[in-house]
Amino acid sequence: MRKHIVAGNWKMNNDLPQTESLITDLKKQLQTSEAEVMIAPSFTNLWHAFEALRLDDIEVIAQNMHFAENGAYTGEVSASMLTSIGIKTVILGHSERRAYYNESDADLAKKVDAALVNNMRVIFCFGEELSDRKAGNEESVVKSQIESALFHLSADAFNHIVLAYEPVWAIGTGETATPEQAQDMHAFIRKTLTDKYGETTANNVSILYGGSVKPNNAKEIFSKPDVDGGLIGGASLKAEDFFAIVNAF
Ligand code: PGA
Repeated sequence: MRKHIVAGNWKMNNDLPQTESLITDLKKQLQTSEAEVMIAPSFTNLWHAFEALRLDDIEVIAQNMHFAENGAYTGEVSASMLTSIGIKTVILGHSERRAYYNESDADLAKKVDAALVNNMRVIFCFGEELSDRKAGNEESVVKSQIESALFHLSADAFNHIVLAYEPVWAIGTGETATPEQAQDMHAFIRKTLTDKYGETTANNVSILYGGSVKPNNAKEIFSKPDVDGGLIGGASLKAEDFFAIVNAF
């Protein structure tokens, strides 16, 4: 059966002292939870965070990586660099990467492949823009993002894929999709997977919702049958808020 997951995407926040202090706070709040808990600090703080949380039930994951194994890609980080320090999961396709760094569906398909070849788990992000939703195209946009980056994979590969539906209009805006909007889209995503790979595979994939999830709305969003957790930006930067969301399951 699929897992509940709550992942904190720290984005470009927290230098080393701030990372140390947030981890100290997270450890204080940590209690047994039904959900898998993850945090994604910046590259410079991954090793510290990994070491600091080695014995705790919080997985440290990366926010991005390059598709090449190594070579002349100044400023980039590869899957094997991540796995060599113990990182086993990477977020790919976040809308900020797509928007500011022109990551295309084709690039993302290559990144997904590179992660899987390196035995990593992928949290694959996608979601429509406000203009798509206004035009009633949200389902076709989401379907095409999933198809182009993931549908070359085998059904077995989906054991290592987590999906994160993040409507761009809800990220960092304070505007959340209603629990019904989230459920409708998650059910559509699961149906898209079912049509291609069958029910067993589709039912085993965790589909997270992301976009202004906060302590006061998490419970309702997570209560929907096809919402298996959340990718949390702003509210993951305070241990208390983050664990209020984790404990909303
Ligand atoms: P937010 O970010 O929770 O701050 O809206 C979510 C995300 O970008 O993953």
